[in-house]
Amino acid sequence: MRLTICDFTKTFDRTTVIKDMNLVVEDGEMLALLGPSGCGKSTTLFAVAGIHRVDGGAILFGKRDVSHLPSQKRNVGVVFQNYALYPHMTVFDNIAFPLTIRREGKADIDRKVRAIAELAHIGDLLARRPSQLSGGQQQRVALARALVRQPDVLLLDEPLANLDARLRLEMRSEIRRIQMETGITSILVTHDQVEAMSMCDRIAIMDQGAIRQVATPSEMYRQPASRFVAGFLGNPP
Ligand code: ADP
Ligand code: MG
Repeated sequence: MRLTICDFTKTFDRTTVIKDMNLVVEDGEMLALLGPSGCGKSTTLFAVAGIHRVDGGAILFGKRDVSHLPSQKRNVGVVFQNYALYPHMTVFDNIAFPLTIRREGKADIDRKVRAIAELAHIGDLLARRPSQLSGGQQQRVALARALVRQPDVLLLDEPLANLDARLRLEMRSEIRRIQMETGITSILVTHDQVEAMSMCDRIAIMDQGAIRQVATPSEMYRQPASRFVAGFLGNPP
């Protein structure tokens, strides 16, 4: 489903951190939201997820304006750095949680959890607890939990930040594989240009609460729209 962020503005206290932001993520696309720390990437994701309200503008899932719906009423999957797994629950129950709270039937839950766990290559870990998993496996569980109810939009906020270099490489291609197999419209927030370039269909460069350029990785590398973009990609003019 296409995601549209239209003239989005966000103010904390009296400071406007995002002003009239516009961004479209096409159906099935994985878009990187790339920019330096503090530029407003997480704030944007929180608004799409419905965790922050918008102070101006609108968020559309397809043609539907979801701006004033609470998070539970938006069909979004989120993997945030600090959205930990529930330590007292098994992997199965962690993944099932978004369905359990919607009171879906047991047989449906069982079928959906097993299918998404297979896709994420954690089908044999369902009886374990999070403490019995590696960092990469925990990340796969978090991804499966975000995807189990087939969200309209998947939001990933620096999902690889806590992993070591080797796992980060492995999970880059795994997250991309799973995104492509499910075809879910996704935003990957990162401050790592290599991650953005290697994982995503297009990149939106953000700075100080505004989008500076949206392009495919190769277009952006060949034709950065500004000195800022070029500098950020590590290719100064
Ligand atoms: P990023 O994810 O790109 O690092 P954030 O979206 O977290 O940046 O933050 C953007 C700006 O908004 C920063 O200046 C940050 O200090 C400010 N900010 C974020 N959340 C809050 C909040 N809850 N209250 C006040 N200021 C905030
Ligand atoms: Mg952030």
